[in-house]
Amino acid sequence: MPKLPPIDADVIFGGAGPAGAAAAYDLRRAGFSLLLLDRHTFPRHKACAGGLTVKTLKALRYSVDPVIQARCRILDIGKGLSGSVEFSGGGEICAMTVRSELDLFCLEKALAAGARFMVADRILSIRESQNHVVLQTSAGALKTAFLIGADGTPSRIRRLTGEFTHHYQGFAIEGILPLNSVGPPRMVFDFNVVPAGYGWVFPKNNHANIGLYSGSPLVVLKKHHLLTYVRRKFGRTDLQHLSGHPMGMGGWRYHPRGRRILLAGDAAGLVDPLLGEGLFNAVHSGQLAAKAIVASQSNGIPAGSLYDRLLEGIRMDLRLSRLSAAWFYRWPNWGHWALTSRPVRFVLMKGFALGWPLGRIGTGFYRLPFLTMQK
Ligand SMILES: Cc1cc2nc3c(=O)[nH]c(=O)nc-3n(C[C@H](O)[C@H](O)[C@H](O)COP(=O)(O)OP(=O)(O)OC[C@H]3O[C@@H](n4cnc5c(N)ncnc54)[C@H](O)[C@@H]3O)c2cc1C
Repeated sequence: MPKLPPIDADVIFGGAGPAGAAAAYDLRRAGFSLLLLDRHTFPRHKACAGGLTVKTLKALRYSVDPVIQARCRILDIGKGLSGSVEFSGGGEICAMTVRSELDLFCLEKALAAGARFMVADRILSIRESQNHVVLQTSAGALKTAFLIGADGTPSRIRRLTGEFTHHYQGFAIEGILPLNSVGPPRMVFDFNVVPAGYGWVFPKNNHANIGLYSGSPLVVLKKHHLLTYVRRKFGRTDLQHLSGHPMGMGGWRYHPRGRRILLAGDAAGLVDPLLGEGLFNAVHSGQLAAKAIVASQSNGIPAGSLYDRLLEGIRMDLRLSRLSAAWFYRWPNWGHWALTSRPVRFVLMKGFALGWPLGRIGTGFYRLPFLTMQK
């Protein structure tokens, strides 16, 4: 074993995507020395529609205005490719970004705050002891007080540590369709075009990101499924840059076991199974991991235990989302009828526009009619 320096950084991150960058930003502001490892240099492609819900925009510690390409106030919900119902009137519900730009922007915020970045395309082993964690990587041996596994759905850190065994994967596939924008930007969700999921159209500057999502690990989504959806919807076949990626789920059962190794974002299975939204929980869990590490330094409680407690809100929201998904996708006709009924439309649009998570919308729906939107 090579001789190790006392410590390479207080916190090392596997993965510099949204979860890693969000945690790094908070930890730098708390004065920790940080090293972000990623297998890619940035900017890099990540299959993702780049939709930031209002709750994600609110969770981020800084404005991401420079990388927002469109702001949506209208959502069209379809049953198959027909029967589209317009949801609107509650204010802005989603900001559209391109992930390569968003991720570079967020990483640069962490670097500007003083974090270091290094490319390491492989983590070979991880050993946690009482006072530190040692990693063997393709870039050499590294020693740290805390390791944050923010390395996405296939997380090597999760697999090497056995930190979370109930992780399972949904899947989404997407492509880009050049478009001239007409009218105000609208988001589209077409339910019933795939099992346990939907087809989407997210408008950007000069193109639409179009894709298919399924939260079921049993559903296989292929390029020809997406091309068929686009042909039936737009009568076009010129979809470009097709790519797919698994989505980490099951996080309602994630309880950190280690004292010094914390998983965040997709690595911890925190994608919402109903709609496949993952960016909010990536950012939020990264921030909670940072909070747990900071607090552990002052109160002596292991960071893993603190993080476990802090994650309860996310786990509750994911449980609710999972129940809603089981009901909604099992009885899609009833689900569509209920979803598009006037009271539900109103409550959802207002809740989304206020940046409320699903759990809060569910428990606080009676308050929504009386709340005023901030300008
Ligand atoms: C097609 C598609 C569309 C989506 N659209 C949306 C959307 O519109 N809105 C939304 O909220 N969510 C969406 N999601 C989900 C969202 O993309 C994820 O939830 C989000 O990227 C999770 O962020 P993360 O930081 O946890 O992981 P990631 O974004 O996957 O980042 C992980 C990072 O770790 C790095 N890495 C991986 N392995 C290693 C390793 N061994 N060592 C070092 N580094 C490593 C990767 O290079 C990457 O930079 C979508 C997902 C897909 C697949």
